[in-house]
Amino acid sequence: MRVLICGAGIAGLTLAWWLRRGGAEVTIVEKAAGPRSDGYMIDFFGSGYDVAERMGVLGELRGIAADIGELVYLDGNGGRAAGLRYGSASAAVGGRVLSVMRGGLESVLRSSLDPGVEIRYGTSVGAVRDVPEGVEAELTDGTVSRAGLLVGADGIHSVVRRLVFGPEERYLHPLGYHTASYLIRDDELAGRIGGRAMLVNVPDRQAGLYPVRDGRLAAFLVHARGGTAPPADPHAEIMARYGGMGELVDRVLAHCPQDPYYDCVAQIRMPRWSRGRTILIGDAAHAVSLMAGQGASTAMGGAYTLAVELLGADVGEALERYERRMRPFIAGKQESGRAAAGWMVPHRAWRISVRNRLFRLADLPGSGAVMGRAFRRLSGSIVPAA
Ligand SMILES: Cc1cc2nc3c(=O)[nH]c(=O)nc-3n(C[C@H](O)[C@H](O)[C@H](O)COP(=O)(O)OP(=O)(O)OC[C@H]3O[C@@H](n4cnc5c(N)ncnc54)[C@H](O)[C@@H]3O)c2cc1C
Repeated sequence: MRVLICGAGIAGLTLAWWLRRGGAEVTIVEKAAGPRSDGYMIDFFGSGYDVAERMGVLGELRGIAADIGELVYLDGNGGRAAGLRYGSASAAVGGRVLSVMRGGLESVLRSSLDPGVEIRYGTSVGAVRDVPEGVEAELTDGTVSRAGLLVGADGIHSVVRRLVFGPEERYLHPLGYHTASYLIRDDELAGRIGGRAMLVNVPDRQAGLYPVRDGRLAAFLVHARGGTAPPADPHAEIMARYGGMGELVDRVLAHCPQDPYYDCVAQIRMPRWSRGRTILIGDAAHAVSLMAGQGASTAMGGAYTLAVELLGADVGEALERYERRMRPFIAGKQESGRAAAGWMVPHRAWRISVRNRLFRLADLPGSGAVMGRAFRRLSGSIVPAA
């Protein structure tokens, strides 16, 4: 089977790995000019962790994971509002959780790929046509590629989705927040933060700072803002929104580059993920949003599940079976993403205090069993137990 994947991100690389292992001929086109390794900090557990274990890359991921001892919530005056020791959270799921940079995860997946998988950087899909043997894609480098299956793994603003399923507005549902992230080199601040993740939260705004393995800090900002369109000047928007949140946030703002990563926080909801011999996976098909904290894990779980189906059956049947298995799983993750939004960055001060009180309770000795149950429910995996 010949498969063309658009997007060398988390979902695309995972799918390529499993399909190649099953003997498929795989080409990936990626619009970025070359491999990237940075991004933002992600929590990695559930399906993603299970798939990484089956791929034999957990050791490498542990090697790049951030060493975070505690998650600390601060109020707008810099006072400690709540804290949660990572050790107790991690113990609740038997240690099966890591904090890694998204780009680091991507690098590990890429370097584990069989060299037989071709990745064409600086290339995208320009047009798609159905042909008797599958699908024909016109690529932006001027070539034409024929495959038995085209997979759109090109993220929340997928071009394959637009070309085959129609405009983004039909499927993208904003959750009422925008987000930004960037990396900081500030040794004095890193020393002060130590091995802690710091989150400053006031109504409608949250500014977070995570220690990265190499000594840098990853800034992670979320604020309430409707609509999907980014502001004309994201840097100016960030300065205006996050000013007045205390000395720590001011320091983070002083490092903000002119062109930080910036996007709306949204989910992708579609009635079907495949049409003919084209299928969407990962964020392109069913972004759960950063509020769910499991987009990368879900993307890996879906890619693995699709590969298992494709390698065992006729393509049409495999796509049907994939859809039936994944739908209820994704519906649950999207529901928890929507439910988490109002607690992660509340609009009202009372919600922040209730949330902080719950965190303080969860951090008390003896609360491990309750937290374990909650976390296990949250981290439910699509990957069957080995
Ligand atoms: C701030 C933030 C925090 C997050 N925190 C977490 C977390 O804690 N845990 C978690 O699991 N997830 C988290 N996520 C979500 C997670 O990053 C995504 O769900 C995940 O990266 C989706 O993987 P993907 O492969 O589907 O898409 P992406 O990772 O977006 O990869 C898509 C790839 O396609 C490429 N591409 C895009 N357009 C084209 C095109 N036209 N042609 C060719 N290639 C193209 C891109 O360059 C990219 O390489 C977070 C997201 C954000 C923004």
